[in-house]
Amino acid sequence: MLTKAPRGTKDITPKDAYKWNYVEKKFRDICALYGYEEMRTPVFEHTELFKRSVGDTTDIVQKEMYSFKDKGERDITLKPEGTAGVVRAFIENKLYADTQPTKLFYITPCFRYERPQAGRQRQFNQFGLEALGSDNPSIDAEVIALSIQFFNEVGLKDLAVSINSVGCPTCRAEYNAKLKEYLDAKVDVLCETCLDRKDKNPMRVIDCKNPTCQENLTDIPYMIDHICDDCSTHFEKLKEYLTEMDVNFVVDKSIVRGLDYYKKTAFEIISNDIGSQSTVCGGGRYDGLVEQLGGPKGVSGIGFAIGAERLLLTLENNDIEIENPKSTDIFIATIGDHAKTKSFKLLKELRYNHISADNDHLDRSMKAQFKYSDKINAKFTVVIGEDELNNDSVTLKDMRASEQTTVKLSELVDELKKRL
Ligand code: ATP
Ligand code: MG
Repeated sequence: MLTKAPRGTKDITPKDAYKWNYVEKKFRDICALYGYEEMRTPVFEHTELFKRSVGDTTDIVQKEMYSFKDKGERDITLKPEGTAGVVRAFIENKLYADTQPTKLFYITPCFRYERPQAGRQRQFNQFGLEALGSDNPSIDAEVIALSIQFFNEVGLKDLAVSINSVGCPTCRAEYNAKLKEYLDAKVDVLCETCLDRKDKNPMRVIDCKNPTCQENLTDIPYMIDHICDDCSTHFEKLKEYLTEMDVNFVVDKSIVRGLDYYKKTAFEIISNDIGSQSTVCGGGRYDGLVEQLGGPKGVSGIGFAIGAERLLLTLENNDIEIENPKSTDIFIATIGDHAKTKSFKLLKELRYNHISADNDHLDRSMKAQFKYSDKINAKFTVVIGEDELNNDSVTLKDMRASEQTTVKLSELVDELKKRL
């Protein structure tokens, strides 16, 4: 047990860590291109925050949260998603008082108690984006465009962008009444969870994965067919902007998203190559959430979250290779104790000149030191012994070209600077 990580968690070893660095850097770079700045929030928050924002009737709040009481008897939850914390921080730090919109991104671990499987873990990572302070559909188009550029630049081209409108409080109330009436006539075929949802949050029934529910609700009314003029204008404008950018999208009426706070635009990006867990990005508009969490009235928001594990799996399944940037410029092989001691001056000089350098720490033989130099993929190797120190002269071996040159030890750094 001591040597096993908890179920649903995974180590990221150096074998993979460089891939994480690559996608994270790419995400940061793309966010910067669109003017989004980083927001870092705590890993845990008051449980109430998620209940109020994500919503009591969602799978996350009902089944998946890592909640506990801390030693001060506070109800604490490890964040199951990124938006709630960012919105809380937006309010607490009064970012709404700055020039709007506030454009933020985050990279964060999330925690959900789920049954682990491919692309589904209990601790996983999300890259997310939140644009607060504008209810204009142009910003909806911007966040969708940003995510597509990000996916494209990491090498994913076969993407399906699905958009939908989940209405606003005005049209949702009327629609909910219709939906409830429809569901009331179906009580004998609804699963336990949907029976509960029917009264508390009927639209969530559409998201039910239970096959019986799905089979029997094929003629269920959809929100988008009942949206008000305001929501409809918003949706049409969004489509116009996306079309202008040549975004290939489809309208999918069944997208309701797993969180309660969504209004108007909801969207998902699906990669067509990964199999069962194919949604790599989900997002939508959450006008009203800021106020609901105690912030000022009328501050809108829209965001998305990308599941980073699924993204990396997708890249792997598509044979998209990320190059490991690891390389050592020079390996210093030494003969004897005195030469090893003296080599530290050179190692320091090299590293201070940003030339990566390595040496032996296991008292290896000369042959083994060369083998090690090969193993760490060093570009150059030099051997330093008494003679080299006395004569101020070393043989610099170019490991790739298999060539050797004689260089003055005192000029080695300058010589390497020229050659690297
Ligand atoms: P799913 O339907 O697969 O459970 P979700 O609707 O719960 O997804 P969101 O809450 O929208 O997911 O989270 C955004 C993204 O985070 C998902 O699209 C997915 O890529 C990723 N994600 C969600 N849950 C997990 C998990 N347990 N492990 C790994 N990635 C996850
Ligand atoms: Mg889920």
